[in-house]
Amino acid sequence: MTRADDRLPTRRLTVAYVAALSLIALLSGAVHLLLDHVISQQRDSGTIINVAGRQRMLSQRIGLLARDFHEGHDDAARLPLLQAAAAMERAHRALLGGTGDMGITHGLSDAARALYFSPPTDLDRRTRDLILAARVLAGSEGPQPLDAGAADVRARAFADIRTQTRDIIMPLLDQAVRQFEAEATERIEGLRRAQQGVLAILLTTLLAEAMFIFRPLVGRVKAYAGRLYDMATRDVLTGLPNRRHFLEVGEREVRRRGEAGQPLALLMIDVDHFKAINDTFGHAAGDRVLSQFGRLLQGWLREGEVAGRIGGEEFAVLLPDADAMDAVARAETLRRAVEAAPLNGQATLAWTVSIGVAQVRGVEDAHMGEALADAMRRADLALYAAKDAGRNRVQLSADR
Ligand code: GH3
Ligand code: MG
Ligand code: MG
Repeated sequence: MTRADDRLPTRRLTVAYVAALSLIALLSGAVHLLLDHVISQQRDSGTIINVAGRQRMLSQRIGLLARDFHEGHDDAARLPLLQAAAAMERAHRALLGGTGDMGITHGLSDAARALYFSPPTDLDRRTRDLILAARVLAGSEGPQPLDAGAADVRARAFADIRTQTRDIIMPLLDQAVRQFEAEATERIEGLRRAQQGVLAILLTTLLAEAMFIFRPLVGRVKAYAGRLYDMATRDVLTGLPNRRHFLEVGEREVRRRGEAGQPLALLMIDVDHFKAINDTFGHAAGDRVLSQFGRLLQGWLREGEVAGRIGGEEFAVLLPDADAMDAVARAETLRRAVEAAPLNGQATLAWTVSIGVAQVRGVEDAHMGEALADAMRRADLALYAAKDAGRNRVQLSADR
């Protein structure tokens, strides 16, 4: 019981348990941060896609208004054209500036950046050129007579607007939206993979915890509890149930057999002249006699029979399904087995037992709980009679 490996390794297991819990907490925290990050990125993606869509609409509008204004000579289109150019500029700044009223905070990916800032697409320059062209066109005096230079500038601005919007900016904005959408999808995929990885680690950790912490812990606690139970119920010297446990189990047995209407007999066994054995051969030899008797008794017991060490060298056995004569015959086999089993040490030591036999009675009435004690008392009296009659013998209770 006191060996080091018998003790519960609580310290080691606690450390492992806390470490596993910390790992789980850490992973949960990481998942939370990751989710937070991806959610905010997704929100930005949504905004970017909206802005790009809006720009697409605005460039279309600029194209139409420019045509009304320039070709349709509709002066009323001038102000809306300037407003559309201003809205386009705001959207463009928001998208590329990374801040502002559109709420974009994360900037653009390399691919999107290339789309906006590198040839051949150069969407940033083209957008700015478009805004400028719209302003140049609208900034003229309207459909009054113009000088040749101004008319020329206006005509070039209009031509620019027409080709830029229809053939270049719109398809590029489409491409930008597709790019942003693809990036958003990729991020979601990344998140899913990360989540799966974290989930796998979590499950592995939990499994490892169950295997390497809880299983051994439960095993040890069980073994410990088993040992404590043994210590509380068994006699160390003989391995037999101790007095308290014998009475507990015995009373249960008496009740069970009584309810079933089956006979039950009790033996009280006492080693003869045990004091003399101790005095002559020493206390250790006496102990060996007791432990040998324990082994012998356990080998002798049949299925369903219950034995216990009641006192120093006194033992009791309950024999289910045995009437008085069965019990006497059975006791006789035990007495003879002891007689035939001398203890071999420095000197061969012959030892014997005397046995008192009684029937367990009264289990049918209300005093069921006293039936065992009563039988033990009567078997004890029979045991004294056996001693008086010369020992090494079986005596049936006169009172049955
Ligand atoms: P009897 O034949 O009438 O039963 O005589 P006895 O000497 O066996 O009876 P008694 O009751 O006088 O002596 C019992 C002795 O058993 C006394 C006690 O010291 C000894 N004893 C009790 N428990 C133990 C034990 O665990 N180990 C040993 N070695 N002796 C024990
Ligand atoms: Mg005694
Ligand atoms: Mg004795």
